[in-house]
Amino acid sequence: MAVSSILDHTPDHPIARARARQGLLDLAKRGDRGIFVHLPLWLLISLWTGLWTQQPLFCAFNSALFLGNALARQLLRQRFARMVEADYARAFRVYMTLLLGNCLHWGVLTGLSMHWPALHAAEMPLVFVAVGVGCSGSLGLAISPFVRFWYPAGVLAPLAVALLTDPTALHTLIALVSVVLVPYLYRSSQVVHDDYWAAADARLELEERARQLELLSVTDALTQVNNRLYFEHRLVAEWARAARESEPLSVLIIDLDHFKNINDSHGHPFGDRCLVAAAQALRGALHRSNDVLARYGGEEFAVLLAGADARAAQQVAERLLAGVAAVELDHEGKSVRLACSIGVSTIVPASMSSPSSAVSEADKALYAAKQQGRNRVVAAPGA
Ligand code: GH3
Ligand code: MG
Ligand code: MG
Repeated sequence: MAVSSILDHTPDHPIARARARQGLLDLAKRGDRGIFVHLPLWLLISLWTGLWTQQPLFCAFNSALFLGNALARQLLRQRFARMVEADYARAFRVYMTLLLGNCLHWGVLTGLSMHWPALHAAEMPLVFVAVGVGCSGSLGLAISPFVRFWYPAGVLAPLAVALLTDPTALHTLIALVSVVLVPYLYRSSQVVHDDYWAAADARLELEERARQLELLSVTDALTQVNNRLYFEHRLVAEWARAARESEPLSVLIIDLDHFKNINDSHGHPFGDRCLVAAAQALRGALHRSNDVLARYGGEEFAVLLAGADARAAQQVAERLLAGVAAVELDHEGKSVRLACSIGVSTIVPASMSSPSSAVSEADKALYAAKQQGRNRVVAAPGA
């Protein structure tokens, strides 16, 4: 299924959640570039206009607010990815509070500068920064429709209120210019938003397809268990791990008994049904998530038990034997039962041996099981 249709229909789908998480992380990455912008601008404007000498407490208070916000965001930055992973809604709330709080703070200072004589000298630079911050926030953070609207709104709304409550000729002109500028800005940020999400969705779609293809390449088409390629990859990996940790590793080869007779008596399609039922029975008899079951070829299956010693492997093999023996299928009114033989080999990997030796030992044991009359488990000598 295409990613876009998954997202349209199932907002709780893992891909939709991954998409939202990635969007928030990318937004934060962009927003973090502005962490230490407000404080130096505020210091520059308030020092240059002589506000620090006239209103030291006011200036210190606002500097502390900007500094506190910057430090909080800097701290958050280090743990944000983990926070988003653990609790997306909380991460969203915390980030938005700090981001929008900061721009609202600047907006209030700007609005205040239009009414409070002590701040008049700072009015123009404050307005200038407010417009700049509003534009860059709206465009740079357009990933989120929420931020795209509220970021410029937060910084410009106090300004709009101040303009309307003090309608000098200049203020009226600024208000009229904003009527044209703000919708333009909003529409421009829509383009940035759409471009970001089109690229993000294309990437997600490719990743999902790659995942599905990878799954397909290691899955047996008939039985839907792993195929031989997957088994061999896992065997090499588990072999190396077991060698490092001096742990045992067991390989079981399972071959259905007299399967040719089933095909000959009931036809190939029914034989296929039996293979599917056998695979399900084997899967059901394996209890650990890292036990590997694969169709090794024809009517043969292989099982890899990492960390299992000879006793544990024997127990699992007996369970697999019983699982297959319990399979009963109906064909044209006749009941058909399955049976299998199992060869087991258990090895603690050493530098002289190779992963394929475990398989050939299990194969030899399987041959012995067939020789001894089938429908049984035989362990390789020394296992
Ligand atoms: P044994 O007990 O000695 O293992 O006897 P067997 O008949 O099971 O073994 P043999 O190797 O003589 O025959 C295996 C049969 O498995 C022959 C082949 O047609 C059948 N087989 C292999 N792959 C498939 C498959 O994908 N579908 C079906 N229906 N049969 C398959
Ligand atoms: Mg065979
Ligand atoms: Mg067979």
